[in-house]
Amino acid sequence: MDVENLKSGNDYHLFVSAQEESEALKERFFELYILYTLSKNFNLSLQLSDLFGKTISFLKDSLKIDDFCFMLIDEKCNELKIWNANDVTYEAAKDVTFKLGEGISGIVAQKGEAVLIQDVSKDDRFLYYKGKVSDIGSFMSVPLKLSDNKIIGVLNIHKKEINAFRETDKYFFNAIAENVANAIGRARIYEDVQKESMFDYLTRLHTRKYFIESAYREHSKVERYGGIFSIIMIDIDHFKYFNDTYGHLLGDEVLKKVAFLLEANVRQGDVVSRYGGEEFIILLPETDKDGATLSAQKLRTMVEKEVILEVGNRSEKIAITAGVASYPEDGQTVAEIIAMADKFLYCGKESGRNRVVNRVVDNGLSAIDEKRLSNRYRMALKIARGVNQLQSIEIKVDDKIWKMCAVKDISKTGFKGEIESDIKIDTIYTCRVVLDSDIHIRNIFSIKVVHIKKFHDNRYQIGAEIADGQDGWKSLFTLLSH
Ligand code: GH3
Ligand code: MG
Ligand code: MG
Repeated sequence: MDVENLKSGNDYHLFVSAQEESEALKERFFELYILYTLSKNFNLSLQLSDLFGKTISFLKDSLKIDDFCFMLIDEKCNELKIWNANDVTYEAAKDVTFKLGEGISGIVAQKGEAVLIQDVSKDDRFLYYKGKVSDIGSFMSVPLKLSDNKIIGVLNIHKKEINAFRETDKYFFNAIAENVANAIGRARIYEDVQKESMFDYLTRLHTRKYFIESAYREHSKVERYGGIFSIIMIDIDHFKYFNDTYGHLLGDEVLKKVAFLLEANVRQGDVVSRYGGEEFIILLPETDKDGATLSAQKLRTMVEKEVILEVGNRSEKIAITAGVASYPEDGQTVAEIIAMADKFLYCGKESGRNRVVNRVVDNGLSAIDEKRLSNRYRMALKIARGVNQLQSIEIKVDDKIWKMCAVKDISKTGFKGEIESDIKIDTIYTCRVVLDSDIHIRNIFSIKVVHIKKFHDNRYQIGAEIADGQDGWKSLFTLLSH
């Protein structure tokens, strides 16, 4: 049998089609393998920058595709922008954008279906990346779709030759695009969460975690190359009183206002963050103690001047106390500097609040030597509460309830004050000075209410005469009025 006869025989056709089938099968296996490696690789990538590199090497090395371009929809302006492409295309077309529906990429991003053009010169819709890339014969654009079918962009693959694709390539590249899209989706969620953990939900300042990371970075820099940095720790004065009196919502407004002022009044490189409830902390790179103290003074004054809340017919001023510590003079590690700033802040609280402290205040009121404090001083410290320079005591308004009374005017025989409770005239009430836990009997005295004026909701102005416990009152009077 000669060759021609062989070729025309049935067996030969069976043989060839078997060979074709096995080729097709090999290709299918190859494609499956590629998709498997792709999803395995991409599943591990949680950062967009990481994915960026992986998609390039995947298309170039595994698929041997030279010309490709990923475009992602910028949701702010609803336009496709280039995210990633082979070098030549990227350089030429990096600033090109497409509106949805514009050019092939725009159509694919809008309709969500792949388009394959075997000869772009014959298709008017093709825009050659707005004339920036000309060396294109055939072109395929597939949508980047998330699993919920949301379209986030397109993957374009170009070849210089015409008719360079097979129809079936569309399916393969759709599967690739789906993998890439979902990996991008996951990375975006991850990056959003990361960003969220860097910012406080209420004040939008940086979080404590971010602050600590920044402080460690700054510390290792100055440790290696020399240099200085400072930390300001801030705490709002009498915030509990404010919250208890006006409610948490207004308290939150105060936090936001203070946060905004702090952020707006520091240098650009400074890191302002919310350290805890009503505590803030600021990192000041390349700033010495004098500079940081000045900055803290400025912030304290700004808050005092600007954060005034009109509530009903009252206006409440907010004040802050700050502690300033610096590297290297106050410690060698971040933890030591923070601890010192905290210690100075505490001194500031103990010595009267609404101030900036950058060293241990040695006026007998220092928190550091708490044991040295006599009861007298402890008492003075604890009654220096209230806002607007008011001081306060507590009045027992029924069996178990003690209400805070802001003392506005004081004399040797009594005082005028404000209280949020329905107080009865000519009645005797027990009063105490607020101490942490142990209430020393000397701090208890009683009053007779001789004057009452209701001035707002449940708020009363009262005039009181000391009825009993003159000794306790005398020592309190000396402390409050000296
Ligand atoms: P001091 O002058 O000694 O700092 O007195 P203070 O009352 O500010 O101190 P304290 O630490 O006892 O009170 C802090 C209060 O801050 C307790 C809580 O009611 C309030 N607080 C903490 N976090 C938040 C918050 O997110 N929102 C609001 N509204 N209040 C908060
Ligand atoms: Mg606090
Ligand atoms: Mg406070």
